[in-house]
Amino acid sequence: MANILKWLGVLLLGILLGTVLGYGARDSGFARVVEERRAEAVGTLASSYIASQTEVDDRAEVKTVAGLQHIEVGVDQPAPDVFRASGVGNTFLIRTHDGLVLFDTGLATQAAKHKRLLQEAAPGQVTHIVLSHSHADHIGGAKFWLAEFPDAEVVTHAEFIEGQRYLDDLERHFWSRNRLLYTFMPEEPPESGMNVYGGITPNIEVAEGDAYAFSSGGVQFEAIAAAGAEGDDNLVLWLPEQRLLFSGDFFGPLFPMVPNLFTLRGEKFRDPLAYVRSLDKLIALQPEMVLPSHFDPVTGSERIRQDMQRMRDATQFIHDQTVAGMNRGDSLWQLMRDVQLPPELALSQGHGKVSWNVRSIWEHYSTWFHFESTTELYPVQIRELYSDIADLAGGPEPLAVRARESLEAGELEAALHWVELGLASQPGHTDLLQARLAALNQLLDRAYEQGSNYSETGWLKSRISTTEAALD
Ligand SMILES: [Zn+2]
Repeated sequence: MANILKWLGVLLLGILLGTVLGYGARDSGFARVVEERRAEAVGTLASSYIASQTEVDDRAEVKTVAGLQHIEVGVDQPAPDVFRASGVGNTFLIRTHDGLVLFDTGLATQAAKHKRLLQEAAPGQVTHIVLSHSHADHIGGAKFWLAEFPDAEVVTHAEFIEGQRYLDDLERHFWSRNRLLYTFMPEEPPESGMNVYGGITPNIEVAEGDAYAFSSGGVQFEAIAAAGAEGDDNLVLWLPEQRLLFSGDFFGPLFPMVPNLFTLRGEKFRDPLAYVRSLDKLIALQPEMVLPSHFDPVTGSERIRQDMQRMRDATQFIHDQTVAGMNRGDSLWQLMRDVQLPPELALSQGHGKVSWNVRSIWEHYSTWFHFESTTELYPVQIRELYSDIADLAGGPEPLAVRARESLEAGELEAALHWVELGLASQPGHTDLLQARLAALNQLLDRAYEQGSNYSETGWLKSRISTTEAALD
């Protein structure tokens, strides 16, 4: 309670100061600083609220997206003249004799604080802002920096504008899905003010296969277009003399991991062979340190090389096994069960999941028509007949019995099918809801045992709470 009052106080003071001071000093640097302080106060309040709503999952065996919400915002120096502001997403600042180069700018709610802390640690003129991709947790602070340094050169991948466009066009669609998976998110997307993201126009667009080289104060930089694990607008920043690789989300939030070619929230498919090509390019650079935009830097050239090689080979393996199975005429469902990484290529499935990648590759190459049934071609789905089928089966009771039998045999997916058939005829049926709850809880246990995939556990937990609410 005391905490809430403290944050409310900070918020009110921020708004009051911003309004009073900003009024007399519009269009001046002073007004901008006032706006930044106000954004910092509002953002700090929002971040601490979100952290209070987000439990760190101690059953998960990997660092999760929930864990990101609890990272303290602060500045450290992972390499000489390299400063990092930490948080949900990192902002990196590289200092040269002629100015400052930024890589990524964090989430909008933390960006004003990132900017203040970085400018205290390394004051100077920002000459370049390099953005790893169009996701909100990487570009949120760009507008704060550009307000003070409008002449800074903004460098992105050539696909960045298209990335912003489709995320903006489908904002409502993705927002409702994200809210289901990440329950700490507010009900509505931000409408106005400093917390809105997007709308960034780059000065330099780097085409896939290309790199943009520049130097500042004698330091060499290369912004390399590298379609990757988080989309086809991924860009990384390479400092060849220091052998530092600023990787953005190229590897995803975990290093190393199975690439997240498929997102449960439904973003566009990520091409595995483009990722393999990009990995080949980055392996050849021989980085000494990888500085990702989530979590901590990774050091040691040999470890980095081995991990990148394993990610490369695992991605190629999943791709090749899927293609071979398709050519053999195996069904997609069979391949989702059969394709497994061999022990030497084992990687965390905390973010990307092998069976889901198999399905995405299959449908990417051959679309959603599986040649299994004519009904696939038309919008009337078997689900619409469930209620009639349930009646033919004798109603919800015998289906609840079958669901229990499946549960006892460890056939969790089958149990869920029986439950769905039964609930179609009687939505609130207690035995069926209890069977569903048991199946979901056992699927959750299995998900934790098999790599704690964050999207899978997030989805299952959300279905568990819906079922518990229905039982109440
Ligand atoms: Zn990210």
